[in-house]
Amino acid sequence: MTASAFGPRARHETVAVRVGSGAGAVTVGGGAPIVVQSMTNTDTADIEGTARQIAALARAGSEMVRITVDRDEAAAAVPHIRDRLRARGVEVPIVGDFHYIGHKLLSEHPACAEALDKYRINPGNVGFKNKRDVQFSTIVEKAIQYGKAVRIGANWGSLDQELLTSMMDDNARSANPIDARAVMREAMTRSALMSAQRAEEIGLARDRIILSAKVSGVQDLVTVYRMLAARSNYAIHLGLTEAGMGSKGIVASSAALGVLLQEGIGDTIRVSLTPEPGGDRSLEVKVAKEILQTMGFRIFTPQVAACPGCGRTTSTVFQELARDIQTYLADSMPNWKARYPGVEGLNVAVMGCIVNGPGESKHADIGISLPGAGETPAAPVFIDGAKAMTLRGEGIAREFKKIVEDYIEKRFGAHGQAAE
Ligand code: SF4
Repeated sequence: MTASAFGPRARHETVAVRVGSGAGAVTVGGGAPIVVQSMTNTDTADIEGTARQIAALARAGSEMVRITVDRDEAAAAVPHIRDRLRARGVEVPIVGDFHYIGHKLLSEHPACAEALDKYRINPGNVGFKNKRDVQFSTIVEKAIQYGKAVRIGANWGSLDQELLTSMMDDNARSANPIDARAVMREAMTRSALMSAQRAEEIGLARDRIILSAKVSGVQDLVTVYRMLAARSNYAIHLGLTEAGMGSKGIVASSAALGVLLQEGIGDTIRVSLTPEPGGDRSLEVKVAKEILQTMGFRIFTPQVAACPGCGRTTSTVFQELARDIQTYLADSMPNWKARYPGVEGLNVAVMGCIVNGPGESKHADIGISLPGAGETPAAPVFIDGAKAMTLRGEGIAREFKKIVEDYIEKRFGAHGQAAE
């Protein structure tokens, strides 16, 4: 997407980082399309369970998947997980999340260090006092040795306490002390930037480094990432940490990421949702994709514009049709990708009455305006902006779905492509 007076600002310029190899490799930053990523919540030592969840997340559209590597059993499982995925044709890059003992795990499990495509380290818990430098250096050296990218991910919940304490002390002694929260935001930013600089001094190339500084408050996140972007050109991983459950998590992430993406900040995103017990982990992937597509940065799947319905709608027919069409389009996409190139850009409108129905339907590639209360029981269908036919009777939903199918075949199928 290009910047204009009314669109998003030009993308913040960052250095491109290649993650992974083979068919699933992605580029983060450098103007590449914004990458969707997610994280498993399985025990990584459970090889089959973790492989299955990574595959499900990849199928949902995650372009990188992070797994926790927290102990020997988890590190030992990593190469087997990678092999199982590749045997099933899943090429998505796998990122290892390390805390406290990453240096030890990467040193003692070379197959794990080799199998991962990227390491994530948190400068706030990579060791303390005199051990810190050694442990941080070891992880960076392993990344250099195996040719891996590293995300240096500062986090509000595990902020580098030595740095924060020293900055708080300096602030207290200052003639013009600033608000304690502002000191914390500054500490987050500095922690990420200083660690990245240290990694470069050790020898990790800038095109191997991705930065993040996640906080749980929307305003804090916006401020911290603005500072991060203003002070560096490292590729940026964007995400609100501990966003929460359900609509709260979705709204908070959308608000925070929306502001920053509009300002051109963010090369890869994760939406950190807490799933309901037994809930679907891939919801976070769906939300991330919807944020990017709604804002016009990526196109993943055909869009359905549906009115919210009101007192003018006579029945649930239009809600059911809107839901059926949306589900049908989303479910069909994995098969359609190769068969109907470009179908992801399709726009469908399902509207509830004559007030906005015909107008909205004309703006879509294909749209239907269902009859509202007191209207003639007829549903005009618009194709490419012109009224094409009118549906009546009990079979409106079925007939409309068939019209959509025929339209897709004609416009995006081999015959349609050849005719263009
Ligand atoms: S299009 Fe008609 S049914 Fe839908 S919200 Fe508007 S007035 Fe109500």
